[in-house]
Amino acid sequence: MLDIGTQTHPLPHQDALYILLHRNQVLIESDNQFLIPFTHFQPNAKMSAIYCGQWHGQDIFVCRFESIPKGFTEIGLRDLLFLQDESHYLLLSRAHQLSTWDRDHQFCGRCGTAMPDKHAKEHAKMCVSCNLRHYPRISPCIIVSIRKGDQILLARGPQAPKDRFSNIAGFVEAGETLEQAVAREVKEEVGLDVTNIRYVDSQPWSFPHQLMVGFYADYQSGEITPAPGEIEEAHWYHIDDLPNIPNNATISGQLILRHIAHIKSLAV
Ligand SMILES: [Zn+2]
Repeated sequence: MLDIGTQTHPLPHQDALYILLHRNQVLIESDNQFLIPFTHFQPNAKMSAIYCGQWHGQDIFVCRFESIPKGFTEIGLRDLLFLQDESHYLLLSRAHQLSTWDRDHQFCGRCGTAMPDKHAKEHAKMCVSCNLRHYPRISPCIIVSIRKGDQILLARGPQAPKDRFSNIAGFVEAGETLEQAVAREVKEEVGLDVTNIRYVDSQPWSFPHQLMVGFYADYQSGEITPAPGEIEEAHWYHIDDLPNIPNNATISGQLILRHIAHIKSLAV
């Protein structure tokens, strides 16, 4: 398992394992192996290695490459995530989020000064000019499975495959509670009012830095009215007659299956 740890971050060393990124792709060896020993690639001076924590007692670093080193192929992060179990998923997700933060915080957002290297004790960069601290960005997003009797609401956004239906989801606004975000997103996207909003589970989702916060809610009132440009179609589906839903590695898929099991347990 991944141990994020509280110790001072070590410098990159030969006994560590490395996750190599090229743009947003992950570099792999055969058999989708993405934890790479130091001796399998040529470290270069410009390579910025970020400490991710320990994995089964071994230090893990993530590095970004400008070109693909010899002997490697690249695979999309999303494709690779779905090939992994949940513990590997969390490691990859953390590595990708830390690398994205490093890449996107090369200069201070307040005064424009070039940022120094990472802090040795934590993932933070402090501006030498104005002392502003920059931490890895985490963007909370709500995702909600809505129940109406023995039906649940599933919707399809414009980017989703034609036959794939999922939950309502969206970013939390500044100054908003998670529950307010659930009620607002459901109203905006499908025109419904919901009640009995309760937390279920969460999952980091590194596209690029969301934290998905999963809820159940019950239908209260309104007719389904898809928001133009946001939702292509949305319907109530009987829990025994579902369309194609997201992969069970995602919180979206898990939320639907858990909610259905919960609704069935209430009916017994
Ligand atoms: Zn500054």
